[in-house]
Parts: sequence; C-alpha cells; structure tokens
Amino acid sequence: MTGKPKGPAAPIRPLPTHRPYFDSTEVDAIAGVLESRWVGKGALTEEFEAAIRDIVGAKHVLSTSSGTAALHMALDALDLRPGDEVLVPSLTYAAPVTMIVVAGARPVFCDVREETFNIDVKDAIARATHRTRAIMPVHYGGLPCDMDAIVDLARPRGWTVIEDAAHAFGSSYRGRPVGSLSDLTCFSFDPIKNITCGTGGAICTDDDEVARRLLPLRNVGIDFGTWRRIGDDSPWHYHVVTHGWRYELHNLNAALGLAQLRRLDDYRARKHQIVRQYDEAFADLEAIALPHRDLDSTFPFSYVVRVTDGRRDRLMTHLKERQVDCTIQFHPNHMQPAFAEFRRPLPVTERLSREIVTLPLFFEMTDDDVALVIDAVRSFWSGA
Ligand SMILES: *Cc1c(COP(=O)(O)O)cnc(C)c1O
Repeated sequence: MTGKPKGPAAPIRPLPTHRPYFDSTEVDAIAGVLESRWVGKGALTEEFEAAIRDIVGAKHVLSTSSGTAALHMALDALDLRPGDEVLVPSLTYAAPVTMIVVAGARPVFCDVREETFNIDVKDAIARATHRTRAIMPVHYGGLPCDMDAIVDLARPRGWTVIEDAAHAFGSSYRGRPVGSLSDLTCFSFDPIKNITCGTGGAICTDDDEVARRLLPLRNVGIDFGTWRRIGDDSPWHYHVVTHGWRYELHNLNAALGLAQLRRLDDYRARKHQIVRQYDEAFADLEAIALPHRDLDSTFPFSYVVRVTDGRRDRLMTHLKERQVDCTIQFHPNHMQPAFAEFRRPLPVTERLSREIVTLPLFFEMTDDDVALVIDAVRSFWSGA
C-alpha cells in the first residue's frame, strides 16, 4: 500500500471539510458480504471487534451501530438516577450531551482550555457536587485530553470516566492508545471520522462486569450467553434479561471498517503532512492562532484554527466564494435551546465559538487542494 491515493479524475470542488476515502478494497469487501447473504451482525462484526481490540489494547470491545449508540449504552450501564450529574464539555457535538439527558441524568457543562479545546480539569473540579457520577472528556479533533489528571480526579471520588473518543481513534496518550486509558471509551466510525464503517461505533472497557452488563443492551436485552450454557444442541433458546436497543454493528458495516483499518497508517501519515503544511503556512498570520497539536500522539480528525481579529464569519464567506468549504465545530451545547436549563457562563467556550473554524482535512486531498486552501485563507488578509 502506498501513502498516496489514486485521486479522483477531476478536482473536488467545492472542497469539502471531511471526506471518506474508498477504493476497490471497500467495493470488494461489500460485494463479498452481499454475495454471502449474511449482511446483519456476524463473523465480520467479531473480526472487526478483534481488530479494534488489537489496536487499542482493551480487554473488551463491543461494536455498536453508531458512536451515539455507544455513548447511550455506556451511560445506561451506570444506572443513573434523576438528579445525577455528568461533567461534560459544552464545546462538543450534541450527541454526548443528548445521551446524558436520555440516560436520565443532568449534563454539567464544563469550560475548555483555549490552547487545546479539551475539558478544563480545574473547571470540572469546581463544578463537581455530591451528585456527580461521571465525567465525559472529549478528545477534541483527535488530541487526547490529559487523561492521567482526569482518572486521578475520578478514581478517589468514585466517578466513572467515559471518554467520548469519537474523534480520536488511532490517537494515543503518553504512549498508550486511546481506548485503554479509563473505564469506558466510545468510538465513532461515522462517515467523516478517522475510519468509517458507514455507520458504526465501539465501546472499550477492561472491566469484565461492565462488559457483561453492556452486552444485552446491544440486542433488546437478550442474553444469548444463557442458552449457550444450556447447550449448543438447543440454540433456539434465549432470555430477555433486561431492556435494550437494536444497536448492533452489521457485517456490511464491519466489512467496510475492516477494509479501512488496513489503511490506518496511510490515513494518519497523509493527514499529518497536511496539518504540518497548514500550520507552517498560517504561522505568520497575526489574526490566526494555532492550537496545540502534539502530532506524535494525535490522529487528526479535523483541522481547526482560531481567528482572533473578530472576522471569522467574513473569512468563512470568503472561503466559500473560493470553493473551500469550512464549518464550525461546534456550536456550544450550553447555548442550545434543548439544554437551556443547564446553562451557565463558560467564557472560554463562548469566545472560542466565535473564533474557531474548521478547514478541509481528508486523506484524498491533493497538493493542489492544500494550496487552494492556503491561498484562500492568506488572500483574505492580504486582500489578493
Ligand atoms: C461524531 C460524534 C459522535 C457521534 O458519533 P456517531 O457515530 O455519528 O453517532 C459523538 N461525539 C462526537 C464528539 C462526535 O464528533
């Protein structure tokens, strides 16, 4: 496998911010599943779980139908009561916050550090109460949070750590892969994440008891282990032991994920190249502040910069006119109408939400694409 994709015949315009990469490997993998007629959960699902287990070094990996499903199940396994609280940064996608509410708890919004966009542990400490049950750090853009500090905070207080690692599959922290760092880690394999299953996710844990409780939640509460104990000569038996959802990863999606895993190092290497080129090209722009990157431990999901001269929105219009898509990751959750009752002032998050912009970053970008983005950004301030 070479590090370079073949590239599309014509340039992709407008240039998207994210884009999955597929070639004949994926096409063949999907065709194989269709020919087998076994498209639902099956042998490839288990193969995919084993592959993830090898990469992240967790004892148990449960694949799921999405990252949101993974978060939902992980939170549900905590048996949260009304009034229980989960610490979560506001500067994240709506999925983790919504799942906290769906699981019956209160999201307690925390501020982030302006140089990393990751949860501010000091603010989390200040927001903790006797109702705090869990903390949900999000590895923004793929950059790992300070997990030693978070685990050291959570352990003595009896909180569960649930990492929203939707952006950070393939990242590591102090030499240890994300997925092996805390109680529970949730990954997403949606179409724009570091690798994709089309839709998919996973929960990682080293805890046998937690894994045992999670299993039936994935399949409407059915425990197949029960009939396995009865004996394989009567495999038509099953027991519904609890409530649950239909959150399984299908063979069709697992086949896609397995094909993508073979390209993990190529994906990472190309994204690193592009991030370095961008950072170099923007370093001298006074109105742009680059966040802390730590590429050695990061599988970059998005490329985000801060625009500090108050002209972020005008820059975005300028980029759009030049066929360069851009977006805002994310509109803070504490400002969203659905979470109004949990609102509190979060000064850093609110300022960042006016400054951040996400630029195109994906494996298939050509050198011309990278140059187009750099020119489009620089020309905004040079007036060219
Ligand atoms: C994508 C994402 C999710 C949800 O994952 P899905 O697979 O799309 O359900 C959760 N959290 C964050 C931070 C995400 O970016």
